[in-house]
Amino acid sequence: MTGIYLDHNATTTLDSRVLEVMLPWMQAQSGNPTSRHVFGRAARNAIEHARAQVAEACGAYASQVIFTGSGTEANNFAVKGISANQPARQILYSAIEHPCVSRPAIAMQQLGLSSQAIAVDGNGLIDSAQLKMQLKEPTSLVSVMLANNETGVIQNVATLAEMAREAGALMHTDAVQGLGKLPLSFTDLNVHAMTVSSHKIHGPQGAAALILDKRVDIQPLLHGGGQERGLRSGTENVAAIVGFGMACELAVTNLSYFASHTHALREQFEQGLAALNVMVFGKAASRLPNTSFFAIDGIEGETLVMALDRKGFAVASGSACSSDSTEPSHVLLAMGVASDLARGAVRVSFGAHNTAEQVADLLATLKQEILRLKQLTSIAA
Ligand code: PLP
Repeated sequence: MTGIYLDHNATTTLDSRVLEVMLPWMQAQSGNPTSRHVFGRAARNAIEHARAQVAEACGAYASQVIFTGSGTEANNFAVKGISANQPARQILYSAIEHPCVSRPAIAMQQLGLSSQAIAVDGNGLIDSAQLKMQLKEPTSLVSVMLANNETGVIQNVATLAEMAREAGALMHTDAVQGLGKLPLSFTDLNVHAMTVSSHKIHGPQGAAALILDKRVDIQPLLHGGGQERGLRSGTENVAAIVGFGMACELAVTNLSYFASHTHALREQFEQGLAALNVMVFGKAASRLPNTSFFAIDGIEGETLVMALDRKGFAVASGSACSSDSTEPSHVLLAMGVASDLARGAVRVSFGAHNTAEQVADLLATLKQEILRLKQLTSIAA
């Protein structure tokens, strides 16, 4: 495939070093990790090695890592599994969560639990005064993402976790966008559960984890052979887990380069955007270094994404990993952005392999396309 890939918050290419460690588990005779024979034991050892690598990248203990098949599964597991085993009390989730947190929280209403969104301010940060009010009601679980997939805005999760703990609630954070982009410590975030996913950090699809405080009582989503300490039954995807482990190790090694390199590209890009009179969302807050979410008044985000795609630039509108609809981004609506402007939102998320030259080319193309689309709109009007 040709084109310049600028959609790293949606997914990333598999690193060749990751593929290399995965291949033997796909090609050669691989045992079932629960089997006692030599093949099974080898697979078990490979999984335990990966568990240690994931734990290291997450600032957690290996015994806290529960492998799942996706970040979506880990988030569903946390929200449904934790709230199901607490006395019937409310679930709070931020208004900007990925649907794989908000939808399971809403689904728990069918079991008689109440669930409510926590508002964010114009910068996309949790309104802690509102959270404090909401925590006056007995609460079982608070779920607030570490970094938003659309805006890149980073929440002060440790402080929010303290508030949740003081109110007697458990705290979960979706750190899918944080891993590999920010220093990550389960211990320092002070949460009870944290989600990470492999394919966002040049690992394979099909592996992710819930990092869980072992004292938390959680109900499994999947019952069966009792894998993962009885918390996630199903024969483990050995190759994907081994790849996830390696991807974590590489992400830790590359973290400071990733942060400084993508931050420089983003600065260059947003300086160029400023000259085009473009609105950048969440700019006043602390953001992931690689993410820029912006909108041009009067141009649909989908239209611009398709126009850029034709010119060889792969960018996203709204939350590409969750939706194929043209509804305005729920994240921007929660931030109080007018729905017409929100419909114009486009996300660029840089990776370690993007270059300053690509950013310059993107800016030049963006300028031409904005002009062209604005002319088309004025002819139509
Ligand atoms: N949480 C966030 C913040 C995401 O950006 C994504 C992306 O898809 C997910 C969860 C879901 O993870 P997965 O694609 O591994 O299911």
